[in-house]
Amino acid sequence: MRSFAIPPAGSPCGRLRQTLSAGNRPWKRRGETGLLCAQTPERYGGPGGDFRLNAIVIEELWYAGFSGPAANFSVHSDVCCGYLLKFGTEDQKRHWLPRMVAGDAVCAIAMTEPGTGSDLKGIRMRAERGGNEYMISGQKTFISNGQLCDLIIVVARTGGSDKGSGLSLILVDTNRPGFRRGRNLEKLGHLSADTSELFFDGVRVPATNILGAEGHAMSMLMSELPQERLTIALQSMASAQKAFDITVAYVRQRKAFGTAIAAMQNTRFKLADLKADLAVGWAFIDQCLGQLVSGTLSTYDASTAKLWATEMHGRVVDQCLQFFGGYGFMREYEICRLYADARVQRIYGGTSEIMRELISRDL
Ligand SMILES: Cc1cc2nc3c(=O)[nH]c(=O)nc-3n(C[C@H](O)[C@H](O)[C@H](O)COP(=O)(O)OP(=O)(O)OC[C@H]3O[C@@H](n4cnc5c(N)ncnc54)[C@H](O)[C@@H]3O)c2cc1C
Repeated sequence: MRSFAIPPAGSPCGRLRQTLSAGNRPWKRRGETGLLCAQTPERYGGPGGDFRLNAIVIEELWYAGFSGPAANFSVHSDVCCGYLLKFGTEDQKRHWLPRMVAGDAVCAIAMTEPGTGSDLKGIRMRAERGGNEYMISGQKTFISNGQLCDLIIVVARTGGSDKGSGLSLILVDTNRPGFRRGRNLEKLGHLSADTSELFFDGVRVPATNILGAEGHAMSMLMSELPQERLTIALQSMASAQKAFDITVAYVRQRKAFGTAIAAMQNTRFKLADLKADLAVGWAFIDQCLGQLVSGTLSTYDASTAKLWATEMHGRVVDQCLQFFGGYGFMREYEICRLYADARVQRIYGGTSEIMRELISRDL
C-alpha cells in the first residue's frame, strides 16, 4: 500500500502543486518542473526516465486531488507522447517531443466522434491523399486538451474499407486553415479539465505527417491502449486511496449517539473491506507496471487492471461519501469532488463493458 503525504513545497511535486493551486500557466510551469512526458529520452529534451516516473507523477497528482488537470496532463504525457516515441519518425520526434516536454506544445489524441466511441472501426473522419498532402474532413468530440492543443494525433479513414484496415494516425498541427475548436463541454466532474469538440473542414497536412504506416492505426492503437488503460487504473488507485484516507480521518472525529462513527462496527467492517480492496489493487497495479516497463503487459492484464481499479474506485468513493452523511453531498467537501470525478474512469479509455469484452477473449 502506498503512503502519500503532501509534498514539501521545494520538491518538484510540491512546486507543481503550488503551480496548479495558483492556476497560472500550468502547462509551461509543469514543463519547467520536469514533470511532462517523463519517459522521454534526454536526446529529445526529457528526463530520460521510464514509465515508473510517469506513474509517480500520476499517483501524486491524483492523490493531491487534481484529477481534472491531471487527466489532461496524462493524455499529453502518458498517452500521446507514447505514440510519438514508438511510431514517430526521427524528424517528427525532434520537432514535437522537446516542445511537449517543455510544455510549449500541448498534444491531444482524437479518436471519438459523435457517432462512434467504443467502436473505433465506425470512425468516419476522412483523410484523402492528393499528391504530397492529406486533406482531412470530419468531426471529433470529447477530446481532452481540445481547447489548448497545438498538435492532435487524429484517427482518420485513409482507405475506402469500413473496417479497421482503412484507418491511419495523422499528426495535425492546429494552426492549419480549416481546423476549428468547438465547445469546451460541460461535465459532471473534472470541472477544470478541457474536453472539447473539434471540427476539420478540408484541413491539409503534408503526407509526411502520417504516424507509423498508412492503414495501420488499429495495430498502433492496440499496442498503445494498454499503457493508457494502466494510466487510468493508476489514477483510480491513487484517487480511491485519497478518498479512503480522508474518510478514515473524518469518521474518527465525527460523533453520533455519543460515539465516534469510526467506532461503529458497520464503519469498521466497511472500511476494512475497502482497505483490503486497495491493498490487493496496488499489488496488481504494481505487477502490471513492471510488465509495462519490461514490454510484456498484455491487453488482457491492462484491461483487467482498468476494469478492476476503476470499478473499485467507484465503490470506494460511493461508500466513503456515505460516511460523510450530508456533508458528503456538498461541493466544499473534497469527498464530493472525488465522487464526481471518479465516474468517468469507467467510461473513457474504453468502457468497463469493452474491458469485459477484451478480457473474455482470453478465456
Ligand atoms: C471526460 C472525457 C474525456 C475524453 N477524452 C477523450 C480523448 O481525449 N480522446 C478521445 O478520442 N476520446 C475521449 N473521450 C471519449 C471516450 O473514450 C468515449 O466516451 C468512450 O470510449 C465511450 O464511447 P461513447 O461515449 O461513444 O459510448 P458508446 O460507444 O456509444 O457506448 C455507450 C454504451 O454502450 C456500451 N457498449 C458499447 N459497445 C458495447 C459492446 N460491444 N458490448 C457491451 N456494451 C457496449 C458502452 O459500454 C456504453 O455503456 C473522452 C470522454 C470523456 C467523457
